Amino acid sequence: VLSIAGLRKSFGANEVLRGIDLAASDGDVISMIGASGSGKSTLLRCIPMLEIPDAGTVGVGEDRVSPRGGRLTRAEEATVRRMRCQLGFVFQNFNLWPHRTVLENVIEAPLFVQGRARSEAVDEAMALLDKVGLAAKRDAYPAHLSGGQQQRVAIARALAQHPRAILFDEPTSALDPELVGEVLKVIRSLAEEGRTMLIVTHEMGFAREVSSRVVFLHQGHIEEDGTPAEVFGAPKSERARAFLASHF
Ligand code: ATP
Ligand code: MG
Repeated sequence: VLSIAGLRKSFGANEVLRGIDLAASDGDVISMIGASGSGKSTLLRCIPMLEIPDAGTVGVGEDRVSPRGGRLTRAEEATVRRMRCQLGFVFQNFNLWPHRTVLENVIEAPLFVQGRARSEAVDEAMALLDKVGLAAKRDAYPAHLSGGQQQRVAIARALAQHPRAILFDEPTSALDPELVGEVLKVIRSLAEEGRTMLIVTHEMGFAREVSSRVVFLHQGHIEEDGTPAEVFGAPKSERARAFLASHF
Protein backbone atom coordinates (compact mmCIF):
# COMPACT_ATOMS: atom_id res chain seq x y z
CA VAL A 1 0.00 0.00 0.00
CA LEU A 2 2.96 2.30 0.57
CA SER A 3 6.07 2.63 -1.53
CA ILE A 4 9.02 4.95 -1.43
CA ALA A 5 11.81 4.81 -3.99
CA GLY A 6 14.97 6.83 -4.42
CA LEU A 7 13.72 9.54 -2.08
CA ARG A 8 16.06 12.51 -1.61
CA LYS A 9 15.61 15.68 0.37
CA SER A 10 18.00 18.48 1.27
CA PHE A 11 17.48 21.61 3.32
CA GLY A 12 20.01 23.99 1.79
CA ALA A 13 23.36 22.26 1.96
CA ASN A 14 22.05 19.75 4.51
CA GLU A 15 21.36 16.49 2.70
CA VAL A 16 18.79 14.92 5.01
CA LEU A 17 17.52 11.99 2.92
CA ARG A 18 20.03 10.36 0.58
CA GLY A 19 18.07 7.86 -1.44
CA ILE A 20 15.47 6.01 0.62
CA ASP A 21 13.72 2.86 -0.59
CA LEU A 22 10.98 1.45 1.57
CA ALA A 23 7.75 -0.41 0.91
CA ALA A 24 4.94 -1.52 3.19
CA SER A 25 2.40 -4.19 2.35
CA ASP A 26 -1.03 -4.51 3.94
CA GLY A 27 -0.70 -5.32 7.62
CA ASP A 28 2.97 -4.36 7.90
CA VAL A 29 3.95 -2.57 11.08
CA ILE A 30 7.26 -0.87 10.37
CA SER A 31 9.14 0.84 13.17
CA MET A 32 11.66 3.48 12.22
CA ILE A 33 14.49 4.08 14.62
CA GLY A 34 17.64 6.15 14.48
CA ALA A 35 19.50 8.97 16.16
CA SER A 36 18.12 12.48 16.44
CA GLY A 37 18.62 14.26 13.13
CA SER A 38 18.91 11.05 11.09
CA GLY A 39 15.92 12.09 8.98
CA LYS A 40 13.05 10.04 10.43
CA SER A 41 10.52 12.87 10.66
CA THR A 42 11.53 14.26 7.30
CA LEU A 43 10.99 10.85 5.71
CA LEU A 44 7.57 10.53 7.34
CA ARG A 45 6.62 14.07 6.25
CA CYS A 46 7.64 13.36 2.66
CA ILE A 47 5.03 10.59 2.35
CA PRO A 48 2.02 12.98 2.37
CA MET A 49 4.25 15.67 0.78
CA LEU A 50 4.22 17.90 3.87
CA GLU A 51 7.84 18.16 2.76
CA ILE A 52 8.29 17.89 -0.97
CA PRO A 53 11.23 15.67 -1.83
CA ASP A 54 13.88 16.76 -4.33
CA ALA A 55 13.81 13.39 -6.08
CA GLY A 56 12.20 9.99 -5.83
CA THR A 57 8.73 8.50 -5.91
CA VAL A 58 6.09 8.05 -3.24
CA GLY A 59 3.13 5.77 -3.83
CA VAL A 60 0.02 5.27 -1.70
CA GLY A 61 -2.49 2.73 -2.93
CA GLU A 62 -2.86 3.21 -6.67
CA ASP A 63 -1.57 6.79 -6.60
CA ARG A 64 2.03 7.82 -7.00
CA VAL A 65 3.98 11.03 -7.51
CA SER A 66 7.59 11.77 -8.42
CA PRO A 67 8.02 15.48 -7.75
CA ARG A 68 11.07 17.19 -9.17
CA GLY A 69 12.88 20.21 -7.82
CA GLY A 70 10.94 20.42 -4.57
CA ARG A 71 7.61 21.48 -6.06
CA LEU A 72 4.38 19.90 -7.24
CA THR A 73 2.58 20.48 -10.52
CA ARG A 74 -1.19 21.00 -10.50
CA ALA A 75 -1.74 17.40 -11.55
CA GLU A 76 0.56 16.18 -8.80
CA GLU A 77 -1.29 18.29 -6.23
CA ALA A 78 -4.52 16.49 -7.10
CA THR A 79 -2.79 13.14 -6.73
CA VAL A 80 -1.31 14.20 -3.38
CA ARG A 81 -4.78 15.12 -2.11
CA ARG A 82 -5.98 11.62 -2.94
CA MET A 83 -2.90 10.11 -1.29
CA ARG A 84 -3.46 12.13 1.90
CA CYS A 85 -7.06 10.93 2.15
CA GLN A 86 -5.75 7.38 2.37
CA LEU A 87 -3.37 8.12 5.23
CA GLY A 88 -3.83 8.78 8.92
CA PHE A 89 -1.33 10.87 10.89
CA VAL A 90 -0.49 10.94 14.54
CA PHE A 91 2.23 13.36 15.57
CA GLN A 92 4.16 14.03 18.72
CA ASN A 93 2.04 17.01 19.80
CA PHE A 94 -1.49 15.68 19.24
CA ASN A 95 -2.52 18.64 17.02
CA LEU A 96 -6.17 18.53 18.02
CA TRP A 97 -8.41 21.52 17.31
CA PRO A 98 -8.41 23.34 20.67
CA HIS A 99 -11.84 24.96 20.26
CA ARG A 100 -13.60 21.78 19.28
CA THR A 101 -14.74 18.98 21.54
CA VAL A 102 -13.33 15.49 21.38
CA LEU A 103 -16.26 14.28 19.28
CA GLU A 104 -16.05 17.27 16.93
CA ASN A 105 -12.35 16.62 16.41
CA VAL A 106 -13.03 13.05 15.39
CA ILE A 107 -15.95 13.76 13.00
CA GLU A 108 -14.24 16.75 11.33
CA ALA A 109 -12.62 14.89 8.43
CA PRO A 110 -15.45 12.39 7.84
CA LEU A 111 -17.95 15.28 7.61
CA PHE A 112 -16.03 17.95 5.77
CA VAL A 113 -13.42 16.05 3.79
CA GLN A 114 -15.24 12.84 3.03
CA GLY A 115 -18.76 14.28 3.00
CA ARG A 116 -20.32 11.55 5.10
CA ALA A 117 -23.69 11.95 6.81
CA ARG A 118 -23.51 13.45 10.30
CA SER A 119 -25.38 10.68 12.12
CA GLU A 120 -23.20 8.04 10.51
CA ALA A 121 -20.00 9.98 11.31
CA VAL A 122 -21.08 10.44 14.93
CA ASP A 123 -21.95 6.74 15.36
CA GLU A 124 -18.61 5.70 14.00
CA ALA A 125 -16.70 8.33 15.99
CA MET A 126 -18.37 7.08 19.19
CA ALA A 127 -17.37 3.51 18.38
CA LEU A 128 -13.77 4.68 17.82
CA LEU A 129 -13.74 6.73 21.02
CA ASP A 130 -14.99 3.65 22.83
CA LYS A 131 -12.17 1.63 21.32
CA VAL A 132 -9.56 4.07 22.67
CA GLY A 133 -11.38 4.25 26.02
CA LEU A 134 -12.65 7.82 25.74
CA ALA A 135 -16.35 7.62 24.89
CA ALA A 136 -17.14 9.37 28.19
CA LYS A 137 -15.00 12.37 27.12
CA ARG A 138 -16.93 13.08 23.92
CA ASP A 139 -17.90 16.62 24.98
CA ALA A 140 -14.60 17.57 26.66
CA TYR A 141 -12.19 20.07 25.13
CA PRO A 142 -8.60 18.95 24.44
CA ALA A 143 -7.14 21.28 27.09
CA HIS A 144 -9.09 19.37 29.74
CA LEU A 145 -7.55 16.03 28.79
CA SER A 146 -4.21 14.54 29.75
CA GLY A 147 -1.57 14.19 27.04
CA GLY A 148 -2.23 10.46 26.84
CA GLN A 149 -5.96 11.07 26.38
CA GLN A 150 -5.32 13.70 23.72
CA GLN A 151 -3.09 11.31 21.85
CA ARG A 152 -5.76 8.61 21.99
CA VAL A 153 -8.26 11.10 20.54
CA ALA A 154 -5.72 11.83 17.79
CA ILE A 155 -5.58 8.11 17.04
CA ALA A 156 -9.41 7.86 16.93
CA ARG A 157 -9.42 10.86 14.59
CA ALA A 158 -6.89 9.19 12.30
CA LEU A 159 -8.95 5.97 12.24
CA ALA A 160 -12.14 7.89 11.37
CA GLN A 161 -10.68 8.60 7.95
CA HIS A 162 -10.50 4.87 7.17
CA PRO A 163 -6.83 5.17 6.29
CA ARG A 164 -5.02 2.44 4.40
CA ALA A 165 -1.95 3.22 6.46
CA ILE A 166 -1.26 5.26 9.59
CA LEU A 167 1.92 7.27 10.11
CA PHE A 168 3.08 7.90 13.66
CA ASP A 169 5.89 10.31 14.52
CA GLU A 170 7.06 9.66 18.09
CA PRO A 171 3.49 9.38 19.38
CA THR A 172 4.60 9.03 22.99
CA SER A 173 7.67 11.24 23.25
CA ALA A 174 5.78 14.32 24.51
CA LEU A 175 4.02 12.35 27.23
CA ASP A 176 4.74 12.01 30.92
CA PRO A 177 6.20 8.54 31.48
CA GLU A 178 3.10 7.25 33.28
CA LEU A 179 0.94 8.07 30.23
CA VAL A 180 3.09 6.31 27.62
CA GLY A 181 1.66 2.87 28.32
CA GLU A 182 -1.97 3.72 27.58
CA VAL A 183 -1.07 5.08 24.14
CA LEU A 184 1.23 2.17 23.28
CA LYS A 185 -1.57 -0.20 24.29
CA VAL A 186 -3.90 1.38 21.72
CA ILE A 187 -1.25 1.21 18.99
CA ARG A 188 -0.55 -2.42 19.90
CA SER A 189 -4.26 -3.24 19.51
CA LEU A 190 -4.17 -1.66 16.03
CA ALA A 191 -1.20 -3.85 15.14
CA GLU A 192 -3.15 -6.90 16.28
CA GLU A 193 -6.05 -5.86 14.02
CA GLY A 194 -3.67 -5.95 11.08
CA ARG A 195 -3.49 -2.20 10.45
CA THR A 196 -0.67 -0.99 8.24
CA MET A 197 1.50 1.40 10.23
CA LEU A 198 4.78 3.25 9.98
CA ILE A 199 5.93 4.26 13.44
CA VAL A 200 8.88 6.50 14.31
CA THR A 201 9.70 5.69 17.90
CA HIS A 202 12.35 5.71 20.58
CA GLU A 203 10.47 3.00 22.49
CA MET A 204 12.72 0.10 21.58
CA GLY A 205 10.91 -2.51 23.64
CA PHE A 206 7.65 -1.58 21.96
CA ALA A 207 9.24 -1.59 18.49
CA ARG A 208 10.65 -5.05 19.12
CA GLU A 209 7.31 -6.36 20.30
CA VAL A 210 4.81 -4.96 17.76
CA SER A 211 6.76 -4.51 14.52
CA SER A 212 6.85 -6.83 11.60
CA ARG A 213 9.89 -4.88 10.42
CA VAL A 214 12.36 -2.47 11.90
CA VAL A 215 14.22 0.11 9.84
CA PHE A 216 17.31 1.88 11.20
CA LEU A 217 18.06 5.23 9.64
CA HIS A 218 21.49 6.82 9.81
CA GLN A 219 22.28 10.19 8.19
CA GLY A 220 19.53 9.81 5.65
CA HIS A 221 20.33 6.21 4.69
CA ILE A 222 18.52 3.04 5.65
CA GLU A 223 21.29 1.06 7.31
CA GLU A 224 19.22 -1.84 8.55
CA ASP A 225 15.89 -3.21 7.40
CA GLY A 226 14.77 -6.49 8.87
CA THR A 227 12.65 -8.32 11.37
CA PRO A 228 12.91 -7.17 14.99
CA ALA A 229 14.93 -10.32 15.72
CA GLU A 230 17.39 -9.46 12.95
CA VAL A 231 17.78 -5.76 13.70
CA PHE A 232 17.74 -5.96 17.49
CA GLY A 233 19.30 -9.37 17.80
CA ALA A 234 22.04 -9.24 15.19
CA PRO A 235 22.46 -5.79 13.62
CA LYS A 236 24.77 -5.92 10.62
CA SER A 237 26.13 -2.40 10.78
CA GLU A 238 28.47 -1.03 13.40
CA ARG A 239 26.36 2.13 13.68
CA ALA A 240 23.20 0.21 14.42
CA ARG A 241 25.06 -1.78 17.08
CA ALA A 242 26.28 1.44 18.69
CA PHE A 243 22.83 3.05 18.53
CA LEU A 244 21.11 0.03 20.05
CA ALA A 245 23.74 -0.33 22.75
CA SER A 246 22.93 3.22 23.88
CA HIS A 247 19.16 2.62 23.85
CA PHE A 248 18.82 -0.54 25.93
P1 ATP B 1 14.50 13.48 16.00
O1 ATP B 1 14.76 12.08 16.53
O2 ATP B 1 15.22 14.50 16.80
O3 ATP B 1 13.06 13.78 15.82
P2 ATP B 1 14.71 13.09 13.11
O4 ATP B 1 15.42 11.81 12.77
O5 ATP B 1 13.25 13.09 13.06
O6 ATP B 1 15.22 13.56 14.56
P3 ATP B 1 14.55 15.21 11.20
O7 ATP B 1 13.60 16.05 11.96
O8 ATP B 1 14.04 14.50 10.01
O9 ATP B 1 15.31 14.19 12.15
O10 ATP B 1 15.72 16.18 10.78
C1 ATP B 1 16.81 15.77 9.98
C2 ATP B 1 17.66 16.97 9.66
O11 ATP B 1 16.92 17.87 8.84
C3 ATP B 1 18.12 17.78 10.84
O12 ATP B 1 19.45 18.17 10.60
C4 ATP B 1 17.20 18.97 10.86
O13 ATP B 1 17.82 20.09 11.40
C5 ATP B 1 16.90 19.17 9.39
N1 ATP B 1 15.56 19.75 9.13
C6 ATP B 1 14.38 19.14 9.37
N2 ATP B 1 13.35 19.91 8.99
C7 ATP B 1 13.89 21.04 8.49
C8 ATP B 1 13.35 22.25 7.93
N3 ATP B 1 12.03 22.42 7.79
N4 ATP B 1 14.22 23.21 7.53
C9 ATP B 1 15.55 23.02 7.65
N5 ATP B 1 16.12 21.91 8.16
C10 ATP B 1 15.32 20.94 8.59
MG1 MG C 1 11.74 13.56 14.42
